[in-house]
Amino acid sequence: MPDSQPQPPHSSSSSGSSGPADPAALLLCGARLTDGRTVDVRLGGGRIEAVGTAGSLAAEGTRACGARVDLGGYLLLPAPAEPHAHGDTALSAEAGGPVSYDTQDVQRRATEAALLQLGHGATALRAHVRVGDVQGLGALTAVLQARRSLRGLTELTTVAMPRLLTGVAGADGLAMLRDAVKMGASVVGGCPDLDPDPTGYVEAVLEVASEHGCPVDLHTDATDPARLARLAAMAGGLRPGVTLGPCGGLGRLPAQVASRTADQLAAAGVTVVCLPQGGCGSVERRGTAPVRLLRAAGVRVAAGSGALRDVSNPVGRGDPLEAAYLLSSRHGLRPEDAYDAVSASARAVLGLPEVRVEAGFPAELLAVRGDRLAGALSLAYSRIVVHRGRVVARTSAVREYCNSAVAAELGLPRQGRGELS
Ligand SMILES: [Zn+2]
Repeated sequence: MPDSQPQPPHSSSSSGSSGPADPAALLLCGARLTDGRTVDVRLGGGRIEAVGTAGSLAAEGTRACGARVDLGGYLLLPAPAEPHAHGDTALSAEAGGPVSYDTQDVQRRATEAALLQLGHGATALRAHVRVGDVQGLGALTAVLQARRSLRGLTELTTVAMPRLLTGVAGADGLAMLRDAVKMGASVVGGCPDLDPDPTGYVEAVLEVASEHGCPVDLHTDATDPARLARLAAMAGGLRPGVTLGPCGGLGRLPAQVASRTADQLAAAGVTVVCLPQGGCGSVERRGTAPVRLLRAAGVRVAAGSGALRDVSNPVGRGDPLEAAYLLSSRHGLRPEDAYDAVSASARAVLGLPEVRVEAGFPAELLAVRGDRLAGALSLAYSRIVVHRGRVVARTSAVREYCNSAVAAELGLPRQGRGELS
């Protein structure tokens, strides 16, 4: 997996230190912010300690900082988060045939997928994992093991997805769901539409969630507005929150019906996680939720990536910047709003504190080549990812135009190696 291995930071220790250096501190020098300023950013104790004009902290940094990273030519952003991944099926397409739920297999694929997404910039990730049926609790055990091995690199949380929760078969599913939460699944989820009694399914999910104080994150295509409204009404008031996704069917409803449903979701305080890159279901159920309509109704909308190279999307990239690109290019969101859906709103879905590039906020950051957000959403190969104040992944892309006089006239890299966006 050459493209997903995080590399150690290429940072150099400061020299000329006259005081005791904080070995955990890190100075990011000369980064561009979205407001146009060029700044130095000092990180320490997993937080942003200070933001100053370029050069101001660099001088001070020779005394106070353990390491520095030159971010000249980079735009510094709050890091994205991935609110909708599938930990147990990710990267299973290549093997062909039915998905292997062998514990070691699932753990390896879930770890590799999380690292791939970390390389893209997502320093937190919510992974849906099936429980019950043939998997039992094996897949969840494997993803929880991946979570432990990834600590310090990325924050992986799991959603337990039981198949049936009603009737005779549902009793087993319900017991399994309670065990899953006790084992460490931090969110209760599933697909109510696949149960013979969707309302009973949602009731059971909400009951288990309130027993354990867990958030709820349910799959629905939302083609039945009455069912969705009922779900919203039932979910309303549950703390710490209810998320629905991918809600692609809302986009196929008449605008008036979709609008009324959006009002009901907003009134219930339900968050929608849309999946602009193709979703996680069958081809017939593709389609992105009507993001602008939902936002206009006051619904919090975040965007995730869904399937990552499994049978539903063998070419899934799991790149939050691609999701934001699609929200902007296909749904007409301003680049700032599109990026918000994969960063601030996605973190809110995960119950994580807000990140701003300001002193006191968590040091969860993504640096991309370029100087404007629109450019970064258009093309961003080169990325540096910071989690808990440490550089945890770095991707560098190089493009050369060979022997081209035209390229030379434009100042594009012709000989040697120039870093690409
Ligand atoms: Zn899904």
